[in-house]
Amino acid sequence: MTTFLLATHNANKLVEFRRIFETLKEKIGAYELLSFSDIGFDDDVEETGTTFEENALIKARAGAARGYITIADDSGLAVDALDGAPGIYSARFCGRHGDDEGNNRMLLEQLKGKQDKTARYVCAIACVFPDGRSFTVRGTCEGEIIDTPRGTLGFGYDPLFWIPEKGMTFAEMPLDEKNKMSHRSAAAALFAERIISYIQESIC
Ligand code: IMP
Repeated sequence: MTTFLLATHNANKLVEFRRIFETLKEKIGAYELLSFSDIGFDDDVEETGTTFEENALIKARAGAARGYITIADDSGLAVDALDGAPGIYSARFCGRHGDDEGNNRMLLEQLKGKQDKTARYVCAIACVFPDGRSFTVRGTCEGEIIDTPRGTLGFGYDPLFWIPEKGMTFAEMPLDEKNKMSHRSAAAALFAERIISYIQESIC
């Protein structure tokens, strides 16, 4: 049986990745997917990278150092008129970690007077093996930032993230529909392709 570790304490992320792994089980064989909490990993992993990929790799390496094939993700919003900000600082753009309202206010403040409202959500997933092999994949979802929040679903910047071809924000879109087109699902699909070839390589 192959054991994978997801570099997070976040139960929602574990559920999300368990769903991805269920779709792979015929190709990768018997497996278990653990989280940092399951192995009693309490250290704070400092995200000192300058890109989503670097931060995901830093978290994944922390688990691989303990002997596990480790998967980690890092995501955020990149706004073109702000040269890619808030980027890796998305969770704490306003200075307080996880303050969605404050982050949205800061985003609107910084976009005042800017014509270009194009933006994208980005999700990087990294996988690091105990023998040092690693790979990263990146999924994106294109949109625009609107001036006034719309909708109550989702989280983070979703009330301001407008999908032109759907005529709604992510916060107005049912979760199932968001999941089909999100940066995370795009990254997950790429991750699934890559992990299958790595595992099959390890088995051979
Ligand atoms: P994390 O890497 O998944 O923890 O995400 C970092 C931050 O990026 C979150 O706190 C949000 O501010 C933003 N973010 C990432 N994905 C989404 C999304 O799907 N909707 C809204 N905000 C997101």
